[in-house]
Amino acid sequence: MAGRPTPVSADAAASVEGASQHTTLYNIRKASHPLHILIVGCGMGGLAAAHCLGKAGHKVTLFEAAAAIGEVGAGIQITPNLSRLLRRWGAGSALEAVGVRPEAIVLRRYATGERVGYTRWTDMEEKYGSPYYHIHRADLHKLLFDLAAPYMTLRLKSNVVGVDPDAPSVTLGTGEVVHGDLIIGADGVKSLVQRIVLGHTNPAEPTGDAVYRAIVPSHLLLADPELRELVDVPEMTGWMGPRRHIMAYNIRAKNEYNFVLAHPDDGSVESWTAEGSADKMRADFADFEPRVRKILSFIDSTLKWRLMDRKPLKTWIHPSHRVILLGDACHPMLPYRAQGAAMAIEDAAVLGNLLSRLSHPAQLKPLLQAYEDLRLPRTAETQRQSRLNQKIFHLPDGPEQEQRDADMRKATEAELRRWREGKRAADDKLAGSANQWADEDKNLAQFAYDADEAAERWWADVGEKQVGGLASGAAREPQVLSRL
Ligand SMILES: Cc1cc2nc3c(=O)[nH]c(=O)nc-3n(C[C@H](O)[C@H](O)[C@H](O)COP(=O)(O)OP(=O)(O)OC[C@H]3O[C@@H](n4cnc5c(N)ncnc54)[C@H](O)[C@@H]3O)c2cc1C
Repeated sequence: MAGRPTPVSADAAASVEGASQHTTLYNIRKASHPLHILIVGCGMGGLAAAHCLGKAGHKVTLFEAAAAIGEVGAGIQITPNLSRLLRRWGAGSALEAVGVRPEAIVLRRYATGERVGYTRWTDMEEKYGSPYYHIHRADLHKLLFDLAAPYMTLRLKSNVVGVDPDAPSVTLGTGEVVHGDLIIGADGVKSLVQRIVLGHTNPAEPTGDAVYRAIVPSHLLLADPELRELVDVPEMTGWMGPRRHIMAYNIRAKNEYNFVLAHPDDGSVESWTAEGSADKMRADFADFEPRVRKILSFIDSTLKWRLMDRKPLKTWIHPSHRVILLGDACHPMLPYRAQGAAMAIEDAAVLGNLLSRLSHPAQLKPLLQAYEDLRLPRTAETQRQSRLNQKIFHLPDGPEQEQRDADMRKATEAELRRWREGKRAADDKLAGSANQWADEDKNLAQFAYDADEAAERWWADVGEKQVGGLASGAAREPQVLSRL
């Protein structure tokens, strides 16, 4: 039987201790005007920010409300735009040890299992410069923790209850006030810091969907002739049905099979650790093909999570330029493009790269503006594509669904031809395909993106002229940041 979905201790997961000390970033460039940066939230985004800003020469204090850190028992997809960064940061071999490289994405009809969409993923590294992995969330969190640990003072049981953007400072639940130079709200979808930045409340919006999540030991699938192929050939399998879909993939070196079941939200809660009813889950997916029902019969408990997102914000920066947002705090999205954590970690990479150039207080404002300018459009487009998949995957049976399937089949044929003939026809980019992973322009934009390259290019094109000169010119301005 599948184990209880209790939070997984990070200690039990993958390790890259010491890796960050052996890697150099930003061509060894470090800020000659170091800041004390206060990060709120020890999720994937907060940890990545601690690593990147520490590498950039800043002092980091990270506040986490929880008493212990870790992640829930569930899988996560690491697309090439994210694995590129993790490899650069020294986590490449750990990723390879705990991750599974999926061979393809396969999209199926829910009731029959018929394959309608197919995109091969074995050439991800060749095409986009870095591999695609499926791993356990606890493994990714532990990798990021190990990378950040040498560069941060971590304060657990430190619930931030107030932020003064002018001081700037954070107030903890105990009443303690901690001062710094810059505050980063990496405090997730229910972000308190976002309210401070915007000056009003702006709660995340329910998307109408919720997910059940469960992990099944792979030996149960391997023992069944009908199911063993799902492990033997590690593809990401999606089953699309009316108002519902399932995504399933292998993690932990194919020892565990991760199941995510999206369905209409019927009053679930926003919590990573809320338990759902396994019987209700089985009832909700009773019209799915026999293989799905068989896997669901192995599950005795499940996590349930209400999916929230939010329209792109107008800004991520408080007018004081001392408080900014990062990750789900500013761009929560449906997980239907597998990009939420990737976007949070890319935010951190761009921010670290830009702030490694800080040599005078006057540069902070334009560098933070560059962070927003580089990141907001990309995350907004990713939010949009994630919402689009909700519509595509959940079509009710009928003419629109038939048209979707016909479009996906056409893309599948083109994909199979590409593999048979060794190349894709020049005009065969499958732009606008209902299978968004078949659309080559979307793939290039999403997967070939290099956060450091984006920041370096901005500096070469714009920043050096606009910001470089401020170091000498503005040196006369009496604008003093607190020193370390
Ligand atoms: C079902 C599902 C599947 C997903 N699959 C993928 C995927 O395959 N690939 C992918 O890239 N992304 C995926 N995501 C998205 C991804 O999990 C999130 O985008 C990512 O975890 C966001 O990270 P974060 O650091 O911004 O926020 P969080 O992980 O939410 O971290 C916020 C942290 O801040 C702390 N905190 C909050 N308020 C305070 C406070 N006041 N004081 C102190 N601490 C505070 C919280 O305790 C928490 O530790 C998925 C999400 C879901 C729901």
